[in-house]
Amino acid sequence: MTTSTQAETTAAPAPVAVLGLGLMGHALAAALLRAGHPTTVWNRTAAKADDLVAAGAVRADTPAAAVAAAPLVIACVTDYDALHTFLDPVDPAALGGRTLVNLTTGTSAQARDTAAWAAGRGLTYLDGAIMATPQGIGTAEITIVVSGPRAEFDRHTPALRSLAGDTPYLGADHGLTSLYEMAIVGLMWSILNGWLQGAALLGTAGVSVADYTAIAAKGIQTVADWLPGYAGQIDTGVFPPDDATLDIHRAAMAHLVQESESLGVNAEFPALIKSLADRAAAAGHGGEGYPVMIEEFRRPAPRPA
Ligand code: NAP
Repeated sequence: MTTSTQAETTAAPAPVAVLGLGLMGHALAAALLRAGHPTTVWNRTAAKADDLVAAGAVRADTPAAAVAAAPLVIACVTDYDALHTFLDPVDPAALGGRTLVNLTTGTSAQARDTAAWAAGRGLTYLDGAIMATPQGIGTAEITIVVSGPRAEFDRHTPALRSLAGDTPYLGADHGLTSLYEMAIVGLMWSILNGWLQGAALLGTAGVSVADYTAIAAKGIQTVADWLPGYAGQIDTGVFPPDDATLDIHRAAMAHLVQESESLGVNAEFPALIKSLADRAAAAGHGGEGYPVMIEEFRRPAPRPA
């Protein structure tokens, strides 16, 4: 993965068309307008464009009219099915020569299929994923990851940088953005669920979530600091127990399950974590370091007997 640098250009901001003006699409169009891009907008429910038009955007009455208005088309709608609902009927001759940056959330297979669909119409395709909420769009702090043809990514970097301060290019495989997006939301939910488990546990002793969170945030940072070393272990396939063995982790997991159950707190999440670790230990990895658990994540769960 490489990170684009801030484009040093004196060229006027390029025209952009935005398809989809839900919470996210509206924020994208507003950020492009603020950055000075001539912006054409289309949404199924036309009224969602009203304030953008008042701020200087041009309203397109149809997706085809929006695509005709700009060489760069940014789409952000509920899902890929919605995208194809309104783009499939557009005359391929109108799509040819345009670049579509699709910021809709979907699977890697949908992204790759849409790249093949676009290629059949002479439409250049970049797939993107937004690692932020609409409130962050147009700020330096947020990240939008992009995959697809490198030359097109480079060509449209100035417009992308009007949307996000960080726009890492992931590679030519269009599916990479979806895989990164799924990886990051999975990480987010794991952290949130672990934090909620702790809040429920400490709540039984009357500890406020604010007090707990001050210490929990440091714990999250500590774990984040382990990751580069652990990544090296996974990449080399060697898992020395430099800090603790998986068996030591399993003993602590048993305490977490027991503590949760005895306090009447939901124990499903820690029990799931322990069941994965128990399987790794049963396969002979109890004396190795925690990242050896990757083997449990690389294969489907065994079918119940
Ligand atoms: P949203 O507010 O619900 O907006 C959905 C958009 O999709 C609207 O413009 C809607 O049009 C359009 N749409 C749905 N079905 C359609 C169809 N059949 N034909 C034409 N247009 C259709 O959702 P959002 O929050 O903007 O999210 C949009 C995408 O961004 C999603 O893929 C989401 O996962 C992704 N995303 C969102 C966030 C976030 O924090 N919101 C963060 C990262 C990624 P109408 O207005 O006519 O209904």
